[in-house]
Amino acid sequence: MQNKITRNLLRFATDSQFRQHFIERGAFSLGWCPVCERRTAFAHLGAEARLSDRCVRCGSLPRWRAVIYTLQTHFAKWRDLHIHESSPYGAASDKLERECKHYVGSHYMPDVPWGQYKGAYRSEDIQHQTFRAGEFDLVVSQDVFEHVMHPELGFAEVARTLKPDGTHVFTVPWHGWQPTRVRTIEEAGVIKYVLPPEYHGNPIDDSGSLVITEWGADMPDLIEAWTGMKTEILRFDNKRMGMNAKFNEVFVSRKAR
Ligand SMILES: [Zn+2]
Repeated sequence: MQNKITRNLLRFATDSQFRQHFIERGAFSLGWCPVCERRTAFAHLGAEARLSDRCVRCGSLPRWRAVIYTLQTHFAKWRDLHIHESSPYGAASDKLERECKHYVGSHYMPDVPWGQYKGAYRSEDIQHQTFRAGEFDLVVSQDVFEHVMHPELGFAEVARTLKPDGTHVFTVPWHGWQPTRVRTIEEAGVIKYVLPPEYHGNPIDDSGSLVITEWGADMPDLIEAWTGMKTEILRFDNKRMGMNAKFNEVFVSRKAR
């Protein structure tokens, strides 16, 4: 799926006949991309906009554009902040790594001792992090928390590592019309499926990531109960910035001063 979209994106950029086909179908729109900060076109390369509406210049997806737009509108000096991003992937993560002075990206790499680096990334289990308390102004996670086995530990660790008034900016597919549903549980080290197993693509593991939690309307209350942090839900319907897609909310949880 991912490869097909990448191939289509390359064809869109290089093959004028292919581009013409899209223009005739009305399958792309002109706009401005918050990630590459240029005028661009968004190509609608698949049925699900969230997974396939690519900026033809930087390849960004709607939710990546929404995260960067959130930083640009809520944190004027985001490039100067101390930022931890859990499980970075894609054009928005690349931008953070490239443009932020104090950025650390971590991946769940059980084969690398926790807290050590493999290449550019630090090995961290989001549920038991080795960062000091109060290290970061900002923690970013993009489509991570639906895959964390014990999200109460993960959110508590995010809160611990944030400075007072620090913020967690994150995305998850949010089923706001229903309560949160736990799809998978772990009992004595054994994984049990409460609901049929569902997997999402994982940039560092071809077998994909198992969905643990289907987050719903009560997610902000759960986060507050686990961490004391209040969560604001930002919705975007901006077609010109290519941010109009289902499941395109950005969540902003703030630690008390
Ligand atoms: Zn772009």
